[in-house]
Amino acid sequence: MLEKIDIGKTKRNLLIVLILSFLSISLIISLGLRSNDEIQKIVEEQFNERQLLLSKQISSGISEFLNQKTIIIELMSLHIYNDSTDAISDEFKTVYDHNKDIYVFEFINASGVVITGYPEENTPIGYDLYKFERPGDIETKQILIRTFEWVRDNKETNITRPINLLEGGLGAFIWIPVYEGEEFKGVVLSIIKISDISDKFLKNFDTKWEIQMINDDGMVLYDHIYSNNVGDKYLKHNHSDPHLDQIIQDQLDGKEGKDYFYENGSEKKLIAFSPITWRNEKWSISVITSSSEIENLISSVFIKQNAFIIVSVGFIFLGNFIIILLLSRWSISLENEVKKKTGELFESNKLLTDANEKLKENDKIKSNFLSMVSHELKTPLTAMKISSEFLLDNKSHNINRNELIEILLRNIERLTRLVNNLLDLSKIESGKLKYNMESAQLHEIIDMSVATIKYQYDTKGVNITTDIPHDLSKINIDKDRIIQVFLNLLINALKFTLKGGKVEINAFEHEDHIEVHVKDDGIGIPVDQIDLIFEKFYQIDNSPTRSYPGAGLGLSITKSIMEGHGGSIRVKNNLPKGSVFILTFFK
Ligand code: ADP
Repeated sequence: MLEKIDIGKTKRNLLIVLILSFLSISLIISLGLRSNDEIQKIVEEQFNERQLLLSKQISSGISEFLNQKTIIIELMSLHIYNDSTDAISDEFKTVYDHNKDIYVFEFINASGVVITGYPEENTPIGYDLYKFERPGDIETKQILIRTFEWVRDNKETNITRPINLLEGGLGAFIWIPVYEGEEFKGVVLSIIKISDISDKFLKNFDTKWEIQMINDDGMVLYDHIYSNNVGDKYLKHNHSDPHLDQIIQDQLDGKEGKDYFYENGSEKKLIAFSPITWRNEKWSISVITSSSEIENLISSVFIKQNAFIIVSVGFIFLGNFIIILLLSRWSISLENEVKKKTGELFESNKLLTDANEKLKENDKIKSNFLSMVSHELKTPLTAMKISSEFLLDNKSHNINRNELIEILLRNIERLTRLVNNLLDLSKIESGKLKYNMESAQLHEIIDMSVATIKYQYDTKGVNITTDIPHDLSKINIDKDRIIQVFLNLLINALKFTLKGGKVEINAFEHEDHIEVHVKDDGIGIPVDQIDLIFEKFYQIDNSPTRSYPGAGLGLSITKSIMEGHGGSIRVKNNLPKGSVFILTFFK
């Protein structure tokens, strides 16, 4: 009962474990799916912020650089008004040595002619703003003159938008007026090459990002990927997304921001932009990223998250599998234990029943034995008493004294046989029955046995014949005990065969044994009792009123003697009537 309850509990626990694991897996999956959306938003936002920050960093770096250089040049310009051209050149050299990223320092006198500069190879000495034509570029000449005059008149620094240099490339022109009191002495013109700025601040970025720098006219000053665009008008670019116009306008207005647009109508791109403020110039830095990069980033986060979910689910499965395994193993071992215990109980129950049966049987045997022995003692004793009384009665003269003495002798013999049988049985059971083995001829033993009992056969009128070949192999036997065997069988055969019947003894030699058949045509043995008659005290008719005397010991002792000789005894029916006892003697 206790075990049954435990097994029930185990199965219930198993069910609880399964439900819990199902719930926890569903929870993890639903949370995972929900957080996927949130993660997508967060990753996107973070990425956009990062790109904006990047554009800010670049623009503030460039702004700081340009403004710092401008201040340095302004400081230098404050005290060169009175210097000779050589002194100015020296001054330029000193500053240049500490600011190599400035392409050239030039001094333009009040009439607009370049009179000195450093480094000399970059200085077009004698270049007259008013006279020199710039081949194919009338506009630039005008700008230069306009700026020169504006600086002179306003006494203020001015930056011209990047201009194509005569040596090639774009350069930002910094114009600083030089005055001695109210007297205009000229202008310090410093040029910073745009390529130097981009080399310093932009070139080293990953090429998967499109980094652009434009000025407030919309001219492309730098393009990380499409260097051919440099010098072009940014606004002129082919694009089909009108949204981009607004973004560019924001850039030109000096704003910062981040937004999406579609390039060539299909590819979604993120643009993060930030202004560079350099005196009167306003440039803008933009960092353009393909949205596929963000998607890759999101999907890599997805993959990691999904991997985490799968691993978690896997762990839950594994953990639960182990729990289920342990529980079912426990349940199986419990069931086995129950089976084993039940089996043991059943076994000990059977042993008890068997022992009980045995006890009952022993009890029955004991009482059978007592009633049989007392019957077997009483019958001959009564006959002996009556015969003795007759013999003592001298008055009765017509009694046959010889017949009375024969009765006495027969009953003494019967009693002696009973006592001998009881003694033999007790020896057999205690293992004390010893055999004096010697070589013997079976026909001699059989003849002696027949001779011993022949008189009784004749008296009853039962015919006895033997057919024993005299050339039978000799065998090793205890002669007296084997005679006892034959006598037992012959007494039984006589007892259970009617007058006029016949008993035959035959012997057959086989390769390794000799068989002796003791055959009668008496009452026979019921088939269902054929195996029982060799048990001690067993009699087919054991009622007190039975017609055949006997204690049920003869065959049991016979069987023990045969087995003591290494042989055997069995019985079968002699058709049409009677029995055949078959003795086997091994050579
Ligand atoms: P008992 O001394 O009572 O004859 P046995 O052990 O010799 O005891 O025989 C046991 C029983 O076997 C007998 O009581 C009898 O019922 C049966 N039996 C033995 N021999 C024969 C036989 N030749 N024919 C018929 N029944 C026999």
